[in-house]
Amino acid sequence: MPPSPYRGRFAPSPTGPLHLGSMLAAFGSWLLARHACGQWLIRIEDVDPPREVPAAAEQQLATLAAFGLHSDEPVQYQSHRHAPYRAASERLLAQDKAFHCHCSRADLAGQHGIHRHCVSSQKRAQPAIRLRVPEGSHVTFDDALQGPIAQDVDRDVGDFVLLRADGYWAYQLAVVVDDAEQRISHVVRGADLVDSTPRQILLQRALGVPTPHYLHLPLLLGADGQKLSKSLAAMPVDTDAPLPVLRWLWAALGQPPAPLDAAVSVAELLQHAVAGFDPGRLQKESRSLAGSPPG
Ligand code: GLU
Repeated sequence: MPPSPYRGRFAPSPTGPLHLGSMLAAFGSWLLARHACGQWLIRIEDVDPPREVPAAAEQQLATLAAFGLHSDEPVQYQSHRHAPYRAASERLLAQDKAFHCHCSRADLAGQHGIHRHCVSSQKRAQPAIRLRVPEGSHVTFDDALQGPIAQDVDRDVGDFVLLRADGYWAYQLAVVVDDAEQRISHVVRGADLVDSTPRQILLQRALGVPTPHYLHLPLLLGADGQKLSKSLAAMPVDTDAPLPVLRWLWAALGQPPAPLDAAVSVAELLQHAVAGFDPGRLQKESRSLAGSPPG
């Protein structure tokens, strides 16, 4: 049998322990990859040292392992990948698709922080690099769960940052370069990132790399139908009791409990989950969950 072209990934930023919301993206992306007989990769998005927590990446990988979720290829760390990010930004600069920018936040305050042309009051020692977003940059894509999404990137976002003025690579550039280089065919992640996708598609077009399929999972709702409170959604998951957490996430993905009922180990539960998973049951809106979240 030829290898499946499906390649998915989970890409946490090491800013703290994995919580229920991030585990939903991890488990959901893993299930969709396994359902398609595809591969599933883990990438640590450690491009933003000021926001990172020491040892969080190791802790996240240990949590994923406790839940039986292992990367099919060596875990990739964005902090080791300055050269390809540099090469991509230099290519864009050479083609005049990107430009150096000296504008500060204060300079852009009068335009609600949106950059359309440089208004810098003084030169910085180290300028940022921005993607040039021409007028009429209307991006649409079909999200496999959320349906058609459209954004006027020039109007709503403006020329966006690829290299920050503090010298760190922006998430948008790093994620696009890595998704392309790792040949990710399907990006499955939380709906909080749906607004970033049109920017990523523009960047893919500018770099001449393929656009993957996108599926944005709904945010978690509590039993009362309200978005889970920040503190609850942000609670670290309990790695000592993975089975109740996996069952809870399974229900949050719209799946009926029966296929997992008999499982007594993580391996067994995951096996039953792959066999019983029905992507057609995923819902655009998160369903309210009876009972409180585990942990
Ligand atoms: N690193 C991002 C986060 O933890 C996710 C990026 C992505 O999946 O594209 O929110």
